[in-house]
Amino acid sequence: MDFCKTPAITLRRTDYKDSSQIITFYTRDFGKIQALAKGLKRSVKGISGGMDLLTYNQIVFIQRASSSLNILTEWALRDNFHLLRNNSRKYYSALYILELVREFTEENDKNEPLFDLFKNTLCEIADKGDPTVNTIAFEVQLLALLGYLPEMSCCASCKAKVDAKRLSSFSASEGGVLCTDCSRRIREKVKISGGSIATINYLAGKRVQDTGRLSIQSSLQVEIRKLLIYYLSFILNKKLKMWRYI
Ligand SMILES: [Zn+2]
Repeated sequence: MDFCKTPAITLRRTDYKDSSQIITFYTRDFGKIQALAKGLKRSVKGISGGMDLLTYNQIVFIQRASSSLNILTEWALRDNFHLLRNNSRKYYSALYILELVREFTEENDKNEPLFDLFKNTLCEIADKGDPTVNTIAFEVQLLALLGYLPEMSCCASCKAKVDAKRLSSFSASEGGVLCTDCSRRIREKVKISGGSIATINYLAGKRVQDTGRLSIQSSLQVEIRKLLIYYLSFILNKKLKMWRYI
């Protein structure tokens, strides 16, 4: 038996038999894992009887063969980001980020920078960050860490130089902005302004701690949000549940 100790954020919990739960964690040292927490079922009165979603814990679990569930043996709460929970805008943004991590990761695929980005973004949103700006920064940096960052400096189709200061086209299937010639040829695309291109390029190179107090004008926020939802749904081939709330 291997006892594994790691920082972990709760992504999902489901009841299991009479008194237990299966908890999905995103961990720093093992990526996404599921573990059986015996005797940790929620109270029938709705009072939280175990680990809430979006909590940062130190956990110990017994790692099992791939066909069996890991067993949670210990956990200690480090941070429940309580300032998130009193503000619906912050809380929904955090739940959306949780959904992105859950959907974009595979089990047992370790990615320490992504764990740190996830935790630091929750801290920023809970603290004084603007949830919309934090969410946009998270989306861009998640794409960068997973190798999905769109091409924004030259045409994604023919590699010709694109004048980033002008209104351009962006195609999810081509993976970035298009030059004028390719834009005429490719039908699946949306418009993107030079301001959005510059903002996405800027955010891709920053740490989330340095973007929390960044100000993005509201018209750009709307445009970038639409663009990212279009691009993320293309990659995932589905719509996320939290999109309607943020
Ligand atoms: Zn082109």
